Amino acid sequence: MREISGKTRVLGLIGDPVEHTGSPAIHNFLAQKMGDDLVYVPFHVTGDGLEEAVEGAYALDILGLNVTIPHKIEVMQYVTELDDAALEIGAVNTLQMIKGGYKGYNTDFSGFMRELDSVDIQINGKKVIMLGAGGAAKAVMYSLQRLDAEHIYVLNRNIEKARSLFGKLDNVDIMGFDSWRDIPKDKYICIQCTSVGLSPEDDQCVIEDEDFYDLVSEAVDLIYKPKETAFMKKVVSHGGKAYNGLRMLMYQAVSSYEFFTRKEVPEEIIKELYNELDS
Ligand code: NDP
Repeated sequence: MREISGKTRVLGLIGDPVEHTGSPAIHNFLAQKMGDDLVYVPFHVTGDGLEEAVEGAYALDILGLNVTIPHKIEVMQYVTELDDAALEIGAVNTLQMIKGGYKGYNTDFSGFMRELDSVDIQINGKKVIMLGAGGAAKAVMYSLQRLDAEHIYVLNRNIEKARSLFGKLDNVDIMGFDSWRDIPKDKYICIQCTSVGLSPEDDQCVIEDEDFYDLVSEAVDLIYKPKETAFMKKVVSHGGKAYNGLRMLMYQAVSSYEFFTRKEVPEEIIKELYNELDS
């Protein structure tokens, strides 16, 4: 049984809804393995209570918070400092306690970069196809730019929305899903950032056309439920390698935990955590 004492510090998640979050399980696992006297709890915070929640958390000496839907953008107004990457991505999912308030970070991008690294996908100088242009895609695009991707084809249902997000980038082409045949024949790294195929819609795939998958040599689907998505199955059946988004999920939590505690989580604990999440 976990001991809660007068010295136990609190971490948490603010969002709406928060009932189905897996974050407490991950962070409490990390606290236990790291030997930190911390407890992580979800806080249901509705839109009009966000400012008070952040101020109140500081007053309550809450060491750090994750921020989830729908507050990732609005919370940027209420931080004392903002990390450069979070500013550029335009979303914050981690609040680290600093003097006078919290510093806002985005660990979706570091989570994605750490997933790429852990499965040995090299982006530098490579051509990439990105499917989707939602919130997660912004963190993915930031990572691809930082890692010096040569060229990125962004395919999205709402083309105007994709243009408004990524239209100013020199190395990006934007198109609809129907136009994938306009992409020059080659081998690409493909990042699946849409919500199509998320459980329980396990059999759905944003591009059904089998020929598309001849373009894909390596792929990451940000979805991790189901473990093997319809998209991943198609990539593999055309000779490519495919990974789900479980490592990204895990690493974004690990990066948050590292910001909260200002300590690095050792590789062996990360491996244990991955095995736990993958079981
Ligand atoms: P958003 O709602 O911000 O974006 C959803 C994206 O999916 C948009 O590009 C949207 O297109 C597209 N989309 C939705 N439905 C359809 C459809 N029927 N046909 C074509 N395109 C569609 O969600 P997020 O970006 O936050 O999340 C996207 C996925 O990534 C989710 O499945 C989420 O679970 C996963 N994710 C995983 C993470 C991880 O750590 N592994 C982290 C964050 C997200 P349009 O712009 O046209 O609406």
